[in-house]
Amino acid sequence: MALTTTLAPLRLRKNEDHRLRAGHIWIFSNEVDTQATPLTAFESGQAVIVEDAKGHVLGTGYVNPHALICARLVSRDPRYVLDQSLLTHRLNIALSLRERLFPEPFYRLVFGDADALPGLVVDRYGDVLVAQITTAGMERVKDEIIAALNKVIRPAAIWLRNDSSIRALEGLPSYSEAVLGDVPETVEVVEHGVRFEVPLRTGQKTGWFYDQRMNRARLRAYTKGARVLDVFSYLGGFGLNAAGAGATEVVCADSSTIAVAGIRRNAELNGLSERVRIEQDDAFELLRRLRAERERFGVVVLDPPALIKRKKDIKEGTQAYRRLNQMAMQVLGKDGILVSCSCSYHFARESLRDVLLQASRHVDRFLALIEEGHQAPDHPVHPAIPETAYLKAFTARLLPS
Ligand code: SAH
Repeated sequence: MALTTTLAPLRLRKNEDHRLRAGHIWIFSNEVDTQATPLTAFESGQAVIVEDAKGHVLGTGYVNPHALICARLVSRDPRYVLDQSLLTHRLNIALSLRERLFPEPFYRLVFGDADALPGLVVDRYGDVLVAQITTAGMERVKDEIIAALNKVIRPAAIWLRNDSSIRALEGLPSYSEAVLGDVPETVEVVEHGVRFEVPLRTGQKTGWFYDQRMNRARLRAYTKGARVLDVFSYLGGFGLNAAGAGATEVVCADSSTIAVAGIRRNAELNGLSERVRIEQDDAFELLRRLRAERERFGVVVLDPPALIKRKKDIKEGTQAYRRLNQMAMQVLGKDGILVSCSCSYHFARESLRDVLLQASRHVDRFLALIEEGHQAPDHPVHPAIPETAYLKAFTARLLPS
């Protein structure tokens, strides 16, 4: 706990406090009264006291004068700043939710803003942690984060995966390093009874996509006795769950060499190799080829990377989603199930639903939506911060029209 009287103020312009009072925690640079408190006077990541135009205190936060989101609120109680004690407290709160949710210590332990730890993500693989810092304010307290994680989790190893492209927006360098213990090359995650070897250093993002756990569980219900196609498979998350749940044959496809090596390894690990075929190819090419070869599947899963990363990509990205879903429907058997996902925050749930409808009309099939999936509960949503809700998954049934 620090005395906030020692903190420099960050003054907002008139009426620019409304969004914060409604629950959001981000401050954009055009909302700051730069006459009263010039942004250039702050160091990157500096702790501040945030005030409205009249000088009423809104809480404490941290600043990055070089970023569009130039500050984030850390606490609405001005007595607390982002120090080791507050980090420890918030980590304990985050941990208590995950311990209620999952019997085994494999989950996303910290999901940034929605765990009141803006700029920090931590995934837990038993006693190995993979952390990612995305803001200057969090980078500044890196040592305190490590100390707090040590105190709360007592991990054997921590890998800092600070290579996210969004760090560039904050003027932060890209690097990865072990900050505690010996970080293993791989860890094993068991999901719904299926074992997955996850490459920690070379894998995507923080290694494993825990956000799809519930949607993979739901997929299992549809796959017994079916022929399944898992497009954008990564390490086989959906596809091997389908095989484990009794699919007769599964085709797992990904364009990445590391991913297909992982799928092969994971199929072997579970004794599923005979029922798993692996295709290393671009998803569009693969779907075109499968259609030309008249292959048909009872279930198709589409889990592409974010095809819309920025607002200005919406038009082009929507077209890509439409084409992908159309092509997936074209390799679906008569009464087929399509699980269609999007992790693009800028692509609204309704837009994905519209794309599914349009695609079904294009291929002249009758569409029924059966289930709607979300990100798993270790990725909570803060309703005032729409950016925290990003993952959509529709399960659709496609019948002859
Ligand atoms: N379904 C996975 C996660 C998918 S992540 C799971 O459940 O864990 C997205 C994957 O798409 C990555 O593995 C990436 O290598 C792959 N990918 C990206 N672009 C691709 C493309 N054009 N064709 C095929 N795969 C692609």
